[in-house]
Amino acid sequence: MFHSSYIEISKSALQNNINFLRKEIGPYVKLSSVIKGNAYGHGIEPFAAIAQECGVDHFSVFSADEALRLLPTLKKPATIMIMGYLDNPELEWAIQNDMEFFVFELDRLIEAGKAAKKLQKRACVHLELETGMNRTGFGENEINNVLSVLEEHKEYLELKGVCTHFAGAESFQNHDRVQEQLNRYKQQLQRLQASGYTPEQCHTACSAAMVSYPETRMDMVRIGIMQYGLWPSPETYIQYIGQREEKLDPLQRLINWKSHVMTLKYVSQGEYIGYGTSYQASRDMTVAIVPVGYAWGYSRTLSNHGQVLINGVRAAVVGIVNMNVMMVQVTEIHDVRKGDEVVLLGKQGSESITVASFGELSTQLNYELLTRLPINIPRYVVD
Ligand SMILES: *Cc1c(COP(=O)(O)O)cnc(C)c1O
Repeated sequence: MFHSSYIEISKSALQNNINFLRKEIGPYVKLSSVIKGNAYGHGIEPFAAIAQECGVDHFSVFSADEALRLLPTLKKPATIMIMGYLDNPELEWAIQNDMEFFVFELDRLIEAGKAAKKLQKRACVHLELETGMNRTGFGENEINNVLSVLEEHKEYLELKGVCTHFAGAESFQNHDRVQEQLNRYKQQLQRLQASGYTPEQCHTACSAAMVSYPETRMDMVRIGIMQYGLWPSPETYIQYIGQREEKLDPLQRLINWKSHVMTLKYVSQGEYIGYGTSYQASRDMTVAIVPVGYAWGYSRTLSNHGQVLINGVRAAVVGIVNMNVMMVQVTEIHDVRKGDEVVLLGKQGSESITVASFGELSTQLNYELLTRLPINIPRYVVD
């Protein structure tokens, strides 16, 4: 075991989540699996492999480098859609490899037309509309120019999709803003349609919009967080569950992050544990040293707060989380030995450390916590 910790990804949990999402959206809405941020920390390669086995055939990535990683792992045909960063020099590569991509600048649209012409191959573009997020997307006043570029490169540019992204559909505080975005989207779409462009895929919904604003589903939903078994926010979950008789969470988390006891230390009453004086042993204690620290994504804010599972029992982090190790208090846990499994995130026996509890203690959003899990922790698929 070269690595001090590893991440297990559950395929059956993913199948459960995909089945749930498919049932929600019905047979006519396409599911795009969002795997940006290293598949929300799950690892693009292992995640994409099991997603394909679970029937996923459409992936959304943020950037060209993620698409580059995804491409060789695909075992069956699938669509790759780049939603964000793709530079002009990579356009030919993207078109050559049948990738679809968002365009939100005229420059990119023109260059895509040129690259496609050079390759004698149509480029499938998704026009991103600015509807109120004010991040990326064509503004209303740019639509005429967009139309003339599309017209000029008609032979080589296929308007595959028209899309937008909501600025906070996971919080009802943003309800009016989301509604306004949806209105603007519809208006601009009508204008495109009036000019003879009827995109095959209208898509606007992320997980939260899919749940809370069903009319945003349209032809395709871009689902990230929920396929990994987490809700975009407590509000979204409460809204969903409030409308159901069955009060059980239909989603299952995929991830288990595990390490093991590296060594044990017996500390006498009155001694301080670790750097500084933030933790003083109030009695004689047994402490397990776990070879994971903030360099591995275990936040330093969990110093004296975090909990892990050992022998199916919760154990508290004592002292400051170091770069590469942390100390946990195991005095009351029966027969802890060097090499025993330590669960940092996920289940052990009947106990579990949820992403939410971990996130609250370290004041990280579930999205942030997952994507911060370093790329070099090995990931293994389990059933
Ligand atoms: C990240 C992202 C999504 C998915 O969001 P979730 O909340 O994880 O479902 C969808 N669309 C765009 C444009 C995104 O950037």
